[in-house]
Amino acid sequence: LKKSYDVIIIGSGGAGLTAAISAKDAGLNPVIFEKMPVHGGNTMKSSAGMNASATKFQAEQGIADSNELFYEETLAGGKGTNDPELLHYLVDNSASAIDWLDTMGITLNNITVTGGMSVNRTHRPSDGSAVGQYLVKGLYANVMEREIPLFVNSDVKEVIMTDDKASGVKVDFNNEGEITVSSDAVIIATGGFGADFDMVTELAPQLEGYVTTNQPGSTGDGIKMAQAIGAAVVDMDQIQIHPTVHQESSYLITEAIRGEGAILVNQQGERFINELETRDTVSAAINALEEGYAYLIFDAGVKDRVKAVNTYIEKGFVQSDETIEALAGQLGIDGATLAQTLTTWNETVASQVDGAFNRTTGMVNPLAAAPYYAIQIAPGIHHTMGGLKINANAQVISTEGTVIEGLYAAGEVTGGVHGSNRIGGNAVADIIVFGRQAGNQSASYVQSKE
Ligand code: ADP
Repeated sequence: LKKSYDVIIIGSGGAGLTAAISAKDAGLNPVIFEKMPVHGGNTMKSSAGMNASATKFQAEQGIADSNELFYEETLAGGKGTNDPELLHYLVDNSASAIDWLDTMGITLNNITVTGGMSVNRTHRPSDGSAVGQYLVKGLYANVMEREIPLFVNSDVKEVIMTDDKASGVKVDFNNEGEITVSSDAVIIATGGFGADFDMVTELAPQLEGYVTTNQPGSTGDGIKMAQAIGAAVVDMDQIQIHPTVHQESSYLITEAIRGEGAILVNQQGERFINELETRDTVSAAINALEEGYAYLIFDAGVKDRVKAVNTYIEKGFVQSDETIEALAGQLGIDGATLAQTLTTWNETVASQVDGAFNRTTGMVNPLAAAPYYAIQIAPGIHHTMGGLKINANAQVISTEGTVIEGLYAAGEVTGGVHGSNRIGGNAVADIIVFGRQAGNQSASYVQSKE
């Protein structure tokens, strides 16, 4: 540990690792402080993929997409409340972010769909596995290759200001007391607050009693630290519940399962919603069921296309059987009804017209290959869409509406880009696009001072 660095990055999730790599490649000497014993944050748990438009991989696969369509669909998903400047920046820089990752050996070329998009836009690792672990592993390897110091068990408590400019942090290493480390710039990449039940229920009392999919480090530290030095926040009460969470384990079941063809049924064995509606709508539909939970139903084909299913099987979340009727028996659902639901669904896939619920995506393959699978799910606290107010340069904005000099933020700690409902796959886009921006902008700033 040195007394001083060019830039201090708080948090080692996807946003922090990306910012560190970008700052280093732009010529700075960064350091990363992570309060947990391991790096990776919630990013490690992210499953669906990374949304990006007009990418080389979409072009190779004949998928017609555009930045305009990505923008419009994200804005519609966010109920028109997204910050237009941030959203434009996200969308316009999404394809180059995919290319940037590819140059570093992180290749996201298996493309699926999540709720709220009309074309395949969610980029995953080539084998269809969950994006988070692959991404963190790849970014971490690049951090190590560049010899960027990363300290775990390093809990940042405060951002220090000198002459109204961020000039370092107070950090507690291994619970041994606070030390001051100085820097020319600070990047806050501490993630959201979905694991802080008090903070969540204070802002959104209706979420009392929900499970959370968040890692224990997601406690909103960066928001509180920045607020203490005058930062503004936006959309703090916009907290996303994810519709498909395995309740006993709080484990999120990836949206890619539905993207690859799974349906949702209630305890009566009937579909009740377009499964690929946005997360808020699907969650509300499940909550409206008398039983308050639903089942994801899928076949061997979906299992093959979504590698995470193997993990769910190992963890004991999945029930399976050779026939639909037998599976229904395990679930206490009437066998004939569930069989009829699948027959009707497979006709829908064939005709591509979902007269019942208007689903239009994730219906390429019928559910017809034994064995058949079910996972019981219900909504859980997932993502905090609000957070620090930033501009498109990833600079933190004060309550006075001015830029706080030398202070940058990226990722879930920020608010605005997702509006009131985040589209699955947009958090990973956010951390990479704005992580790069924070790294690059902090470098321009530090170098302009020299
Ligand atoms: P993002 O997706 O925005 O990168 P993540 O949740 O993946 O967010 O990563 C944020 C990381 O920041 C987590 O690993 C978390 O433990 C870490 N973190 C949170 N608060 C602090 C803090 N006060 N000091 C250091 N690290 C922190």
